[in-house]
Amino acid sequence: MLDASAVLSALHSVLAEAPRPVALHEPVFEGDEWRNVKDCLDTGWVSSVGAYVDRFESELGELAGGYAIAVMNGTAALHACMLVAGVEANDEVLVPALTFIATANAVSYCGAVPHFVDSDPRTLGVDPERLGRYLAEAAATRDGGLWNRRTGRRIRAIVPMHTFGHPVDMDALLEVAARFHLAVIEDAAESLGSTYKGRHTGALAPIGALSFNGNKIITTGGGGAIVTRDRATAATAKHLTTTARLPHRWSFLHDQVGYNYRMPNLNAALGCAQLAALPALVRRKRALADRYAGAFAGLKGARIFREPEFAASNYWLNVLLLDEGASGKRDEILDASNAAGVHTRPVWTLMHKLPMYAECPRMELDAVASLERRIVCLPSGPRLSH
Ligand SMILES: *Cc1c(COP(=O)(O)O)cnc(C)c1O
Repeated sequence: MLDASAVLSALHSVLAEAPRPVALHEPVFEGDEWRNVKDCLDTGWVSSVGAYVDRFESELGELAGGYAIAVMNGTAALHACMLVAGVEANDEVLVPALTFIATANAVSYCGAVPHFVDSDPRTLGVDPERLGRYLAEAAATRDGGLWNRRTGRRIRAIVPMHTFGHPVDMDALLEVAARFHLAVIEDAAESLGSTYKGRHTGALAPIGALSFNGNKIITTGGGGAIVTRDRATAATAKHLTTTARLPHRWSFLHDQVGYNYRMPNLNAALGCAQLAALPALVRRKRALADRYAGAFAGLKGARIFREPEFAASNYWLNVLLLDEGASGKRDEILDASNAAGVHTRPVWTLMHKLPMYAECPRMELDAVASLERRIVCLPSGPRLSH
């Protein structure tokens, strides 16, 4: 039977040299960050336009194999993705029950309703096969769209989220989405640098969102981006997130209600330096995952979660997955490790358990209910790998 002290000693063996407390995640600035930020201050280009924004967008776009529009955080990126994908008031949008709150909130900002779906325990993300079976029962296709049989609302889109950096089985998901006339919006906030069958996450669907919050694999302080392979979609997203202003030398003309979601140059300056470090950060995080896997290999009752076979994950956050029979030990493990200065955390409270989302439509959520009892997130900062 698993006991908390065995977990603690495995943790200490991996984190031996790290000063306590050990944070769940922390940023590292080892490149041109100071120089770039100083350049902004020296030149006065600190705000919503500037050379670093353009450079950050073009380098990100190149990485993802498409176009990128930098915005002020990942939540704003998701909101803009929803609008560009055609999500309207009173639509439903399929969202994993196991996600960070931003995924569901972005749906609500459009006046739409999140409709919660279960996860595949192999990826921690949307389970395409079960989703397909569920939709065939719960929804009807008509006039090129999908309608919820029970609520009568149109189900417009699905938002696969690559949990802790591990990619969803996107080919299978895109097939289900096409079969049921669903738009696909990728929440790749946690998975920058992860690949699915060799392709970068974020641009696997027609539109996707990234985050550069302080706890993500690279950071701009706060920031996000919209990613797409389609030039016209990119233009629409850029227009919408820059107050829908029409280009003109001196006139203020706006042709719709736009958003002031632009990323400031100061943040993009950080982003350019961080993006250069991304390949090394992914290597360090993958090395840390291997060390955790080694340290916990002999432990009965729990294992380190490993990437699905079709993916190379950025291992943004490592997970100790308890066996169902050991899930009763979760809180004891959390208590003991935090008391020892090792910041472990449970997974997010499932979306349908939060008061504002308790009445939303949902499929049976047994896989995520089990995962919620069994997940312990481990410190995963890139400094911990050596
Ligand atoms: C971090 C994150 C976001 C976006 O968060 P911001 O803090 O707004 O940048 C969205 N979805 C998921 C799953 C996330 O982890």
